[in-house]
Amino acid sequence: MRICAPLLFKNRQPSMTVFLEGYRKTGGYQGLKKALRDMTPAAVRQEVKASALRGRGGAGFSTGLKWSFFPADEPGDKYLVCNGDEMEPGTFKDRQLLLADPHHLLEGILIACYALGIATAYIFLRDAYRDCAANLERAMAEARDAGLLGDNILGSGFNCEIHLHRSAGRYVCGEETALLNSLEGRRPNPRAKPPFPAVKGLFGKPTALNNIETLANVPHIITGGADWYRGLALTEQGAGTKLYGLAGHIETPGCVELPIGMPLGELIRDFGGGVWQQRSFKACLPGGASTPYLTAAHLDVALDYDPLEQLGTRLGTGGVVVFDDRTCMVAATLNLLRFFARESCGWCTPCRDGLPLVCWLLERIESGQGSHEHLAMLQEQLRHINGRSFCALALGAMGPVEGLLRHFSEEVVDHIRRGCCPLKN
Ligand code: NAD
Repeated sequence: MRICAPLLFKNRQPSMTVFLEGYRKTGGYQGLKKALRDMTPAAVRQEVKASALRGRGGAGFSTGLKWSFFPADEPGDKYLVCNGDEMEPGTFKDRQLLLADPHHLLEGILIACYALGIATAYIFLRDAYRDCAANLERAMAEARDAGLLGDNILGSGFNCEIHLHRSAGRYVCGEETALLNSLEGRRPNPRAKPPFPAVKGLFGKPTALNNIETLANVPHIITGGADWYRGLALTEQGAGTKLYGLAGHIETPGCVELPIGMPLGELIRDFGGGVWQQRSFKACLPGGASTPYLTAAHLDVALDYDPLEQLGTRLGTGGVVVFDDRTCMVAATLNLLRFFARESCGWCTPCRDGLPLVCWLLERIESGQGSHEHLAMLQEQLRHINGRSFCALALGAMGPVEGLLRHFSEEVVDHIRRGCCPLKN
């Protein structure tokens, strides 16, 4: 298999952070230099669009397309907000990048701001990531001293400030419009979309909102070019690399950078050491807690956006969480749903009232007190909640429920028929 050298993790070493000197030694800030000296903002945007980079925060929206909605050439206040509120269970990739090499993100932000005509950027960082915040503060101070941040960057006349903001520590704050309210000092309720943040975002102004990993790819696209970047993927339609998480019932959990399109089974076997304790694979979440499960029948699937969507799930954040053959999938789903129900902001009824009801139904079934009527109600909630909530939180929460009913309906019915969990008894 054709595996490229890591891009974002190229400087990653165990228990060590690379700062400015180390980052520069391996080509750091060459992308920014090239953009400022040799490219117009429009040319940078065009290169990113041609690279087919898709958002790595979970939704997989085309970055070039998102930037094309942004009024880059219009005067007035505009912002870039980097979403670093990484709270999706099973997802820890952005943290690994900031622990290894924080300048990667700063360079990506600076190039994006240049491309979009933005002079002020915010990094909205998960509150628990104190070590990452310290790394970013140090990296920003180094960049400022080296003329890479602030006024007249690298003598080009381009000015850009980056501010670090620590999140309030709730899952919903990572929803992009709740994030904007939070950054403005308001209650983190999601806002109605449209208008999308690209049109009306922070303080009512156009705002480019991108995930940490997404922005960290931009310097590589500028130095290597869009064609080279697209060619890194193992699939025809894919582009670039991905930071895949490996967690759950696996021998060697961790985070690895591999091409987009890595087959799921090979990722688990070759980079995760296989299912732990020599047990067998039962299921996994392919991209964080809000993506419907895959089963052993899907181990050959390429971890890319389109192939996973064809299987009714998503690449999401690329955080693969493995479940072994002794896992009760009803209990696993209940565990996830308890998290989502607790993290609902309470703004809309399907999420505030629907998710606790789903938890209650799963509790009944898992404890052996469920009936076929409860199962029918669970199926009904899928229809009631999906597409009717204000933001993607409830929709994401129903991902595992959808996967449970699609692939493990026999196990659910077995709980009802036996009046107990078949895996415990
Ligand atoms: P979305 O599909 O609604 O939007 C994706 C992005 O594209 C947004 O930035 C949105 O503003 C933009 N966009 C879409 N249509 C647009 C248009 N017509 N004009 C301008 N911009 C447009 O998804 P979302 O609600 O932003 O994100 C949901 C995803 O977040 C889920 O799929 C989940 O995987 C992920 N998630 C990630 C984490 C994490 O920790 N990384 C946590 C929770 C959820």
